[in-house]
Amino acid sequence: MKIACIGAGYVGGPTMAMIAKKCPEIEVVVVDINEARIAAWNSDKLPIYEPGLFEVVKEARGRNLFFSTDVGKHVGEADIVFVSVNTPTKTSGVGAGKAADLTYWEGAARVIASVSTSSKIIVEKSTVPVKTAEAIEKVLRRNCKDSSVHFEILSNPEFLAEGTAIEDLTMPDRVLIGGKDTETGRAAIASLASVYAHWVPEDRILRTNLWSAELSKLTANAMLAQRISSVNSISALCEATGADVQQVSKAIGTDSRIGPKFLNASVGFGGSCFQKDILNLVYICETVGLQQVADYWNQVILMNDYQKDRFVQRVISAMFNTISKKKIAVYGFAFKKDTGDTRETPAIDVCRGLVADGANVCVYDPEVTDDQIHADLTQQTYEWYDHPNPRSAPVDKKAIGISHDPMEAANDAHAICILTEWDEFKHYDYQKVYESMHKPAFIFDGRNILDHAKLREIGFIVYAVGKPLEA
Ligand code: NAD
Repeated sequence: MKIACIGAGYVGGPTMAMIAKKCPEIEVVVVDINEARIAAWNSDKLPIYEPGLFEVVKEARGRNLFFSTDVGKHVGEADIVFVSVNTPTKTSGVGAGKAADLTYWEGAARVIASVSTSSKIIVEKSTVPVKTAEAIEKVLRRNCKDSSVHFEILSNPEFLAEGTAIEDLTMPDRVLIGGKDTETGRAAIASLASVYAHWVPEDRILRTNLWSAELSKLTANAMLAQRISSVNSISALCEATGADVQQVSKAIGTDSRIGPKFLNASVGFGGSCFQKDILNLVYICETVGLQQVADYWNQVILMNDYQKDRFVQRVISAMFNTISKKKIAVYGFAFKKDTGDTRETPAIDVCRGLVADGANVCVYDPEVTDDQIHADLTQQTYEWYDHPNPRSAPVDKKAIGISHDPMEAANDAHAICILTEWDEFKHYDYQKVYESMHKPAFIFDGRNILDHAKLREIGFIVYAVGKPLEA
């Protein structure tokens, strides 16, 4: 069996590496039009940072795992073609700011059709709107010259989380395969299931119809993001009343119907998926006339924006209502720990908000590159909603500093903002940090990861999300 995967990104790379590791008899080729990315996959410096990924890639690369820019050749030879291309939010035209942009997906489908001389199973790995398989089937059929070639489409959405991708792929909560209830559909589902069965227990391989699988991925992300927005909304109430959001989370999380996971209040969620997928869900609801449902899910994003704004406002008001010309160290720029990914990271909005009020920020992140931080803060960003986003304008380059040393970043600063929950932030010598800062020295813990009592003992004024000032 030969598998090809179109798209060597955060999903295509790790998922295919895991399949190649677990199925040594299957040839797996990951293809991409991005030459630099493929070169990086073939080098010792992989294009993405993910704990444990390098070891998995190293084990299989050159044995039965390959990375190539020759899309046509490998797709043409494959029995199963995964499509793991990006499906961002549309930025223009009908549905701009909400609908999924399927340009890359359609491009991939056209390539598959044009190079196929044998029947293939086409696997939707990208997150796509419900009913995408119907449109893709038409693109494939109409663009393939050989009428004897049959394409069987399956939906196999990916549930890995960045930062824990290898863990998630090694022991997934479930593998979801959606397909048609026809003879060829059932055979294709069985074929894909047999690949995963190399390491995933049978009871974790769920089979559904195509539309349920497509919709399940959007729903899973919407529910996860909703949980974060829900606890963040409660964090605002905690700050206003003297309750402690960590105590509330613990108290409600022990209810087995609620469960303890994903109940950490924070500066807000980020990442390439949550906002994009909810916007997509909102758009789908609107197009089928379910405005109330669309409004319900849209609120999850609005709450997330509110949380980021609230964080910035809290910094400003705590620092005597002015941060003009004050240096603020920003610890963490990635959207979560253990990744270098900054797509939709709350740090972008927070840094822009601080700079807009006159502060000079100095960013330290152990994985994010300087170029990425500069690009994220200095480029015009898209305005997602029908109303203007005050943070979409580029910020003044002179107000942005980047440091590769957390001590240096904090030196002479008036405040530190913790925006990513990197473990190393917990282990710094904060006495030393405090001594190098302006007084009074503030810490705004946007992830609730530090020992606040100890910091207060040292002399810091500590603000934490959803916590009373002197908790
Ligand atoms: P990504 O942007 O990192 O990678 C996509 C890759 O596809 C890029 O390298 C791009 O060059 C390539 N590509 C686009 N069109 C191509 C074509 N015609 N031929 C060859 N290559 C092409 O994206 P990602 O983060 O890996 O996400 C991919 C999909 O998976 C998205 O739909 C996303 O929503 C979904 N997803 C992402 C995550 C995540 O954590 N990032 C998790 C689950 C699902």
